[in-house]
Amino acid sequence: MVKDIGLDVPAPVKECDDFNCPFHGKLTVRGQVLVGTVVSDKMDKTVVIQRKHEMLIKKYQRYEKRQSKIHAHNPPCIDAKVGDVVTVAECRPLSKTKAYVVIKAEVQE
Ligand SMILES: [Zn+2]
Repeated sequence: MVKDIGLDVPAPVKECDDFNCPFHGKLTVRGQVLVGTVVSDKMDKTVVIQRKHEMLIKKYQRYEKRQSKIHAHNPPCIDAKVGDVVTVAECRPLSKTKAYVVIKAEVQE
């Protein structure tokens, strides 16, 4: 049984029994939805997402490149790998550093 998470993303093809899966478990998502690239999948059920953005420096009227990393929960039914472009949604804090969950993964060629 797949739960409707309230966001416009396709439900994962695979099933899982992860308690912290927004589709098959008890986890609810709310708040921000972000897109980033997976830079590490070495942790158990956790991926590191990197996001690049530019910030205007007013004094010089130029953009500065900035990047940030966020840790996100990676449910077994989605199983994102390094290099994938993923969509993450904010959820309750799952650990000291995790407050996002992967809801969509696109494999890049
Ligand atoms: Zn699942």
